[in-house]
Amino acid sequence: MSRKIVAGNWKMNMEAVQARNLFNELKENEYPNDVKVILCPPAIYLSEFSDESKNVYVASQNVSDLSNGAFTGEISASMLESINVSYCLVGHSERRQYFKENNEVLAGKVKQLLSNNIIPVFCCGETLEERNSGREREVIDKQLKEGLFFLNEAQISKVVIAYEPIWAIGTGVTATADQAQQMHGFIRQIVLKSYNQAIAEDMSILYGGSCKPENAAEIFSKPDVDGGLIGGAALNASSFKEIIHSF
Ligand code: PEP
Repeated sequence: MSRKIVAGNWKMNMEAVQARNLFNELKENEYPNDVKVILCPPAIYLSEFSDESKNVYVASQNVSDLSNGAFTGEISASMLESINVSYCLVGHSERRQYFKENNEVLAGKVKQLLSNNIIPVFCCGETLEERNSGREREVIDKQLKEGLFFLNEAQISKVVIAYEPIWAIGTGVTATADQAQQMHGFIRQIVLKSYNQAIAEDMSILYGGSCKPENAAEIFSKPDVDGGLIGGAALNASSFKEIIHSF
């Protein structure tokens, strides 16, 4: 099975008409057969889009770590499943930073998603300060061990990992292809050590952080980079399509 995925995270952007136009432009396209295309629109559009998705999958940007009940404003994994959402982001650095989601909460979200047949796209990444002090591997190792590696083999085999250095998100500063490869290789190694070779080899590991048409091909050419989680460049149909065709 191909590991290649390109996912577009629209974040809190796009009013209804713009969102519909972007979705229409992306959903009918011919994409390379071995690349999965995932769109992460704001939650309010998920129901409308997930019913119509053809060549694209629809992902939620967030989910509750609780199953149901008196939690005003939350959206449960079973609700997402009931409208055919296939993927969900977990642990995006904006959720960790602005909404104080820690590894324990993120682990709860992962559990909820897998119990409702939704694939978590688990994000990890270090700050500039952590990288400058040579701690990037230690930080990623902890995020993955606490947020994800409590899963058993059958469960972890379903998960997608996104490596997103925080210093590269929305800054225009991209990790070099070599920096991305080093961290992706490291992540695959720790998946191997925590599980086994087959699981490590099959795991999709995406790069995120100012990925755009000009740099996607070089980053995607690295052996352990299986695609991208794209923010800003996913808000424009032609840029996003160019990135998808960069493999
Ligand atoms: C992101 O938010 O996941 C992201 C990668 O954003 P950008 O591409 O804009 O850096």
